[in-house]
Amino acid sequence: MIHTALLSVSDKHGIVDFAKALHALGVQLISTGGTAKLLAENGLPVTEVSALTHFPEILDGRVKTLHPMVHGGLLARRDSKEHMAALREHDIGTIDMLVINLYPFNQTVAKAECSFEEAVENIDIGGPAMLRAAAKNHQDVTVLISPDDYAAVLSEMKSNQNNVSYKTNLALAKKVFAHTAQYDGAIANYLSSLGDDLNHQQRSPYPETLHLAFEKVQEMRYGENPHQSAAFYKDLQTVDGALANYRQLQGKELSYNNIADADAAWECVKSFSTSNGNNTTACVIIKHANPCGVAVASSALEAYQKAFKTDPSSAFGGIIALNVPCDGTAAEAISKQFVEVLIAPSFSKEALAIFAVKQNVRLLEISLGNTFNTFDFKRVGGGLLVQSPDAKNVLQNEIQVVSQRQPTPKELNDMMFAWRVAKFVKSNAIVYCADGMTLGIGAGQMSRVDSARMASIKAENAGLSLKGSAVASDAFFPFRDGLDVVVSAGASCAIQPGGSMRDEEIIAAANEHGIAMIFTGIRHFRH
Ligand code: 5GP
Repeated sequence: MIHTALLSVSDKHGIVDFAKALHALGVQLISTGGTAKLLAENGLPVTEVSALTHFPEILDGRVKTLHPMVHGGLLARRDSKEHMAALREHDIGTIDMLVINLYPFNQTVAKAECSFEEAVENIDIGGPAMLRAAAKNHQDVTVLISPDDYAAVLSEMKSNQNNVSYKTNLALAKKVFAHTAQYDGAIANYLSSLGDDLNHQQRSPYPETLHLAFEKVQEMRYGENPHQSAAFYKDLQTVDGALANYRQLQGKELSYNNIADADAAWECVKSFSTSNGNNTTACVIIKHANPCGVAVASSALEAYQKAFKTDPSSAFGGIIALNVPCDGTAAEAISKQFVEVLIAPSFSKEALAIFAVKQNVRLLEISLGNTFNTFDFKRVGGGLLVQSPDAKNVLQNEIQVVSQRQPTPKELNDMMFAWRVAKFVKSNAIVYCADGMTLGIGAGQMSRVDSARMASIKAENAGLSLKGSAVASDAFFPFRDGLDVVVSAGASCAIQPGGSMRDEEIIAAANEHGIAMIFTGIRHFRH
C-alpha cells in the first residue's frame, strides 16, 4: 500500500496533476528542491528531502538525496523483521513510491554547442541511485520514470485501495533498469567519443566503446530460414517517419524477410520523394532485397504498371512500395498480382476496401521521413562493422560529362534515374532504364560483365528493348569489356563513378561507340 511517495523530476511535465491525485488519495509527498517548490506553489503539502534527512542539498544539487533516510526507506524489505527493526531504530520511514526522471544527458550532449562542463553537470547521480534502489526493491516499491505511466498506476491505486500489484511493480522495475543502462551507456559513449584530447574539443562519431539501446518490437516465428529464430528491435532513438514505426493495417504478421525487404523497398521509393530533392511519384518492387522493377510516373497506378513490366515473373510475391498515397485504381491493379507486402504513406478508403477481401496481403503505412539511421551495422564473426549510412544522392550539377558526345536531355534524365536506382541494387549492379522505368536489372554478380549480361537477358525475357537505353553501373568499369557489353545490348549512354586506373581506355571506348558517358565521382557499393 502506498503511504509515501518521493517525487524528484527534471522534466516536470504532468507532475503537478499526478501529485494532486496522489494527495487526494492520502499519499504523503516528499520532494527535492525544484520539484518541491513547484508542488508547494500549486498548493500541495510537501516535505522537502532536506527536512527528512536533516541535511541541506549541497554542492549545487550534486548531493540531494544520497542519504540513508532516503535509501533506507526505499531499500528495506517490508517482510524482513530485521530490516523493519533497523528502520525503527534509526527513525527512518518507508518510501513506497518513487517518481523520477533524470537530468537530460542525451538531449544536452546532442546540442552542438554543449560544453564538456555542461555535459558533466548533466550526469545525474542521486536519481539513478534511487531508481536502482526502488527497482531492486520492486516487491514493495512502485517506481515511475515516465509520465506515460502516471495514469495507469493511479487508476490501479484507485480501484485497489492504494495498492499497486506485484505485476505492475515488476514491469516498472524492468523499465527502470533498461533506462539506467541506457543512461549510463549514453554517458560512456559521450566520454569515450572525446578521445585523448584533454581540452575535449574533438568528438569522434565512433566512441571507443559503443553502447546501443534497442527495444523489442516483436518476435518472429523464424528468421531468414525456418531453422533460425528471430526478433525485430527498434532503435530507442527512432523518430517518426522511420520503417521501425510502421503501422500494419491488415495481413499476416510480418516475417524477418518481409521486414528486410520492406526496408529495401521503402528506402528506395523514398529517395524519389520531395524531401530528397526529387518530386516524383514512384513505385518500387523488391524481391530478395533487390529491386526487380522501379518506375516514376504521373500517378501511382502508372508507376506500378511500369515497374511491374520490368520483370513480371520476379514481381510475383514481391514487396511493393509507393511514395504517394495508394488510391483505388493503383490498389485494383496491384491486387491482381500475388503481393506479400504493400507499403505506402497512406491508403485511400477505396484501396482499403479492395484489399479487405485479400486479408493475406500485409498493408503497411509508413511515412516518408528524410531521416537516416545514425549508423549502418554489419555483424561479422565476433565483431560489428559500423559506418555512416549511404545518404548521398548525386545531383545533376555534380556530374561530369566525360565523352565527346554530350547526352541529350532525355538521356540525361534516363541516366539520373538509372543512377538513383543502381544505389539500391546489390553490387555488382548494372541497371538499364528509359522513360522513367527500369528495363533490366543485373544484381549481386561477382563480375560486372556478368551483371551487364544478366540485365540484358532479363530485359529480353520481359520483351523490353534496350535500344537507346541509359545504363548505370554502381562502381567503375574496371575494363572496357563491361562497357562493350552494355553498348552491344543497346545502351546509348552510361553513368558510372569513374575513378578506374583505366578510365582513359574506358572513355576512349565510349567515344569509339559514340555513346554519351557521365562520371558521378561517387560509388554506391551495396553488399
Ligand atoms: P529538482 O528539480 O527537484 O531540484 O531536481 C530533480 C532532479 O534531481 C531529478 O532529475 C533527480 O534525478 C535529480 N536528483 C535527485 N537526487 C539527486 C542527488 O542526490 N544528486 C544529483 N546529482 N541529482 C539528484
